[in-house]
This record gives sequence, structure tokens and C-alpha cells, in this order.
Amino acid sequence: MLPPLYFFGKTVKLINRIYDCVVVGSGAAGYNAAIHLVNFGVENIVILCENRLNGTSRNAGSDKQTYYKIACAGAEGDSPRSMAETLFSGGAMDGDIALCEAAHSLEEFFHLVSLGVPFPHNSYGEFPGYQTDHDSRRRASSTGPYTSKAMTEALEREVFRKGIAINDKTQVIKILCSGEGGGNGDKSAGNGGAEESGGGGKTGGERRAFGLLCLGEGNTFSLYLAKNIIFAGGGNPGLYRQTVYPPGQSGSSGVLAREGVRFANITEWQYGIGSIKFRWNLSGSYQQVIPRYLSVDAQGKEDEFLNDYFSTTGELAAAVFFKGYQWPFSAEKTGKGGSSIIDIAVYIERHIKGKRVYLDFTRNPQGGEIENFDLSVIGKEALDYLSASGALGATPLERLKRLNPPAIELYRSQGIDLAAEYLEIDVLPQHQNGGAEISIWWETSVKHLFAAGECAGSHGVRRPGGSALNAGQVGGLRAASYIAGFYLKNDTWFGPGGGGEEGPGERVLRAAAAELAAFERGLKLDYPAGKQAGRGERKNPGIPEKLRRLQEINSGAAGFLRNKGEIKRSLALIEAMAQESLEAGDEELAAAFKYREILLLSRIFHQGIWYYLDSGGLSRGSCAVTGGDSGIRPQAERGFPIDAAFHDKALITKFDAGADKVHSLFRPVRPIPQADLWFEKVWADYRDGGIFR
Ligand SMILES: Cc1cc2nc3c(=O)[nH]c(=O)nc-3n(C[C@H](O)[C@H](O)[C@H](O)COP(=O)(O)OP(=O)(O)OC[C@H]3O[C@@H](n4cnc5c(N)ncnc54)[C@H](O)[C@@H]3O)c2cc1C
Repeated sequence: MLPPLYFFGKTVKLINRIYDCVVVGSGAAGYNAAIHLVNFGVENIVILCENRLNGTSRNAGSDKQTYYKIACAGAEGDSPRSMAETLFSGGAMDGDIALCEAAHSLEEFFHLVSLGVPFPHNSYGEFPGYQTDHDSRRRASSTGPYTSKAMTEALEREVFRKGIAINDKTQVIKILCSGEGGGNGDKSAGNGGAEESGGGGKTGGERRAFGLLCLGEGNTFSLYLAKNIIFAGGGNPGLYRQTVYPPGQSGSSGVLAREGVRFANITEWQYGIGSIKFRWNLSGSYQQVIPRYLSVDAQGKEDEFLNDYFSTTGELAAAVFFKGYQWPFSAEKTGKGGSSIIDIAVYIERHIKGKRVYLDFTRNPQGGEIENFDLSVIGKEALDYLSASGALGATPLERLKRLNPPAIELYRSQGIDLAAEYLEIDVLPQHQNGGAEISIWWETSVKHLFAAGECAGSHGVRRPGGSALNAGQVGGLRAASYIAGFYLKNDTWFGPGGGGEEGPGERVLRAAAAELAAFERGLKLDYPAGKQAGRGERKNPGIPEKLRRLQEINSGAAGFLRNKGEIKRSLALIEAMAQESLEAGDEELAAAFKYREILLLSRIFHQGIWYYLDSGGLSRGSCAVTGGDSGIRPQAERGFPIDAAFHDKALITKFDAGADKVHSLFRPVRPIPQADLWFEKVWADYRDGGIFR
């Protein structure tokens, strides 16, 4: 008889089975990973999710939500290498990962097509593409505003058809790990000094994952044992006060961080203009029809503030039009006439002058010192585009009706009539480009723990629109194939004394008990089981209040405008918050774990930014580094000096629980491999598992 396991004085329910793989997350990445596992013959699996219907994939979108893949229509030549070069050129991205994402992109695209995702093709079966931001060809495809939703639903139907178990309302709060290396105690990520590239795509030492502790309904704890874990918990909007992510997705990469998983490029995000009342990304057609931007002060006085930033209506209109293609803020697109001047202008109105900022689709830009709006001044590219699209209406709304009527319907379905009201906006976080550092099989620095989807740090400083959805699909495929093709054939950790089909053995349970005890100690959480919030005197502010404060710190200092002095101050605040203990009543328990995760991730995020700035890093990609005393606006109008020094380096950050410290370093990115493509050689390697070596 094995002794029961306890956590905070409660008995932990042990799931009496050792899974070949547990998948965390019911988004497009998690579902896809589970399907591939079963297709590879791995059926002893389960999907865990905190809420099946939450997540970014199922609930987010844009005017034309994009999937990025190799161009495969007409005579336009393309290749894995060419697409990999585009991905790699974004900076700070590993070339071998870029090649994997490119090489598998069509396989995953057509996997989705075969599951019924309605990517459009012509009468002959050609799937045409269009050019997206940071794209060199027409590689992008879309099903309309809800591409990721269509993907998630089609993948979910396949998960149901295959009978894959989904345990909903199950919040993973801890990954159980054993051994040293790769994770905590790994000296390779020590502060200061560069480290050589890991080469070959493998990261980390011998620390491995073997289970998951979960919080379920009624504050019950359960323990899953797993030979492998694919973590697909999505991005981490919980870091910020306001975002364009759907409500309900807060992220849980802090669970990975706690285990000492190394993060790559955690500093890199995408920010852009989105609506607030209904969280939606205002890219593409919403900008291409050239709406009117205005701010309103406390007295209700309206101001067409963009007139102050552009010297003619034509320049202003062109910048707004290009914002459609160039949606994410880009430091490179500041300077005279640049489309990212608009993000800065919106920020200044809202966050420095304290006004509310809106888009008005009922009228053209007008007034100010510059001549009135007329379609003849909008520039050749914008005019040609609107004309070719049959969208030369008299107002932005008329043009939008012709260019993309579902874009209007979408807001109407949320109770917002673009013909009758202004749309309130801000510059908001939309996507994290960095995340857990991964090998070419999407394994993190902790063995048997894989990361797929937005929580994986596969992208660099900038990426083509649509490559996030592709990376999420490719990641699940790669992880599943490594688990099926290599780990399940070679892993003996659960062997003698560890248990088998009949359930776990004593050695594994002892390791689990030690992990639970260490986790409980490290949490600094006062949770006398069953205590009700509000009963008795609280020593500290409540968890929602603490979380709000933390999010405000991150939003204030670590958004798309960053400044060394401010980061230093906010980092000190966050480090101090990390030392505070926490009280939680029964109804706050789930929030308490989330808060701890977001706090730890904030430390890593802030330490990474500090390390970058302290190393002399300048503006790049989706954020601008402000400095000096000239003010943000003059810097933006001159154009921020752009950093080239760190283009070919990945920024690695890692939490060391033993030292209670975050370490950072730069390492050179791995180049795009010149792989041997001799068919007979590849065939032999494929047959005998050589591809995994
Ligand atoms: C407005 C907007 C527009 C976008 N447009 C595009 C686009 O055009 N092209 C593109 O490529 N990308 C786009 N993206 C990004 C892309 O949609 C996401 O990166 C992608 O959908 C993330 O998928 P995922 O499966 O990794 O995560 P999600 O879909 O967020 O799923 C995460 C899952 O994990 C679960 N989960 C999280 N933590 C836990 C835990 N601790 N325990 C159990 N379960 C947990 C969640 O409940 C959820 O089921 C956009 C994003 C936004 C916000």
C-alpha cells in the first residue's frame, strides 16, 4: 500500500495511470499535438485544460486572420529554404527552427484543409496567397476574420472523433521534475558573458519532467504522471493590464519558468492598435479604408491629433493605409511619414495627455493645418488597391462596406454599430514572439517537456503575419513525432520501481511527494484550507489588487515604449513584490497560483529587458527604446536609432529557484542548416530513426 500524497494539508488525488503523454491546452496547438500523437500510434494520452472554451485560438481574430505557409499557387516559385530565410531574417531566431517551420508548413496547412478548415482554393484546386507583413512573397492564406477559431473547431471535431480524453476545468499548477541540469542549478545560463550555441538543436541537461499537479473544481488537487508533456498553454496576456487577447486567456508560462525552463527572446512582443470595448485587432481593411483618428478630452473637445504629425493629408492617409499591412508597431517605421508614428501619437494622446482616442468610420480625415481629404491625395498604392478592390466609396464606412463587409458585421455582432458610434482604441499587446526556448523537436530545456504554440519561443524579433498559427501547428507535429519515434522507444525512467501499466511505483511517488513539499514551501502562500476571504484581518492587499498593480507596472514600463531608467525602477518593484507572502481564502486559490505564475514571469520578462538595455540594446522590432530629454514625439518623428548589434543573437533568460535569481545571456542564433537531401540517405535515416539523433 503506497502512502497518500498531501498538498496544503489536503489529500492529492492520484490518477492511477502513467500517461505516454499529457497535453496541456485546448487551443489550436494543443489539439493538433494530440491528434498527431494518436496518428503516430500514441493513444495513452489526455488533454488537460483549465477551460475548454477559453484560449486565444478559439476566441481571437482580425479582419483577415492569417495563416503563413509556403506559396503553392500559380507559377510563383517558393521553397522551404526561401521561407526559412524570410522567417530567419526577422532577427534573433534560430535558423534550424525556421527551416522546420517552413518545411512542415504545407503539411500542416493541408492537414487543416483535410479536417475541413475552409481555406479558399480556385476551380483547379490552387490555394492562392496574399502578402502579409514582413513577407517577401504571397504566402498568406485566410478563412476570414475567424481563421484560428475555424482551426480550433475543426481540430476539436477530430479530437472528439478520435475519442481523445479531455479533462476540462483542470488547471495545471506545477510540472513535476526530477534531476539536475537544463533546469534549476544549470550554470550555463549564468549572468554575463555569451554562451556558444547549443548546435544540433538540443538544449539543456538531464532534468526531466514526469508529472503534473492540477487544481480542479472545488479546490481539489490531482496528480498526473506522464512520460512526456506537451505544454500548449498559449500566450501570457496576464502580464498586462489591457490587451487585445480575448478575456479568459491569461497564460501560464510561469509554470514552466518555475522549473527553470530557459526562455528565448521573452522580451519580444507584438503591439498594435486594437479596440477596447470589444477586444479586436484593427489591422488590414480597418486601416486600408483610411478612417478618421480623433481624441476627446474631459470636456468633450475633439482633436484630429494625427494632423500634427504629418505634413499633408496625402502623407497622413498613406500612413493610415499602410498601417493595414504594417499593423504591429515597428521602430523601423517611425521617422517622417512612417505608419508607426500613428501608434506613438495614439499613445501620447491616451497615456500622456489622458484623453480617449477613437476611430471614426463615418467621416474622412479632415481639418487641421493641412488640406482636406480627397481620394486623389492618398497615394498611388492606396488608390490602386482601393480601386482594384472596387472600394472607392465616399467615406471610410462606404469603402469598408465594399472592401470587407464582414468586418462591419463583426462589430455589429458585438453591439457596436460603426455607422453610429466611434470605436475606442489603444495600442495593445497582441502576441508574444518569445517563450520557452526549444530544440528542433520543440523540447524545452527540461527533458520530456515540450512547448507548442504561443508559449514556445520559436520567433525572433519580428515575424511575418500568420507565422504564429503555422508555428503552433508545426510544433505539435514535431513534438509528437519525437515522442512517438524516439522517447517512447528509449525512455526507461519509469522502469523498475517506477511503475508500469498498473500504476506508479514507490520511487516515482517518493519523487512526487518531494516535489509537492518543495513547491508548497516555495510558494510563500498562506492558505489555511477552507478559510473564507474577508474573514479575519488581512495583512496584505487582496490578490486581484496585487495582480492589477503588477499588470500596471508591466503595462507602464514594459510595453512598446521602453526606457532604461523606468525598467530599473519597475524591476525593483517587481523583485520586492516577489518577496511578499500571499494570503488566499478558498475562493481565491486558483487566482493565487495564477498570480504567482504571472509574478515570476514578470520577473523574467523585466530582467530580460533590463539585460538587453543594460547591454546597450536599442530599438528594434515591435518596441522602441526611448531616452534623452527630447521627448517621445521628437524621437519618433526623427525615427528611433535601430539596433543591429543583437540581430543574430537570441536573448536567453532563466529562473534559478535555488538562488531565487533570474539569469540572462545572449547566445548566437543557430544558422539555417545546409541539410543533406540525397533521397536514399534521408530514406535510410528516416527508416531507422536516424532523423532523431
Ligand atoms: C487579436 C489577435 C489576432 C491574431 N491574429 C493572428 C493572425 O492573423 N495570424 C497568426 O498567425 N496569429 C495570430 N494571432 C496569434 C494566434 O492567434 C495565437 O498565437 C494562437 O492562437 C495561440 O494558440 P495556442 O494554441 O498556442 O494557445 P491558445 O489558443 O491560447 O490556447 C491555450 C490553451 O491552454 C489552456 N491553458 C492555459 N494555461 C493552462 C493551465 N495552467 N492548465 C490547463 N490549461 C491551460 C487555455 O485554457 C487554452 O485552452 C492573433 C492573436 C490575437 C490575440
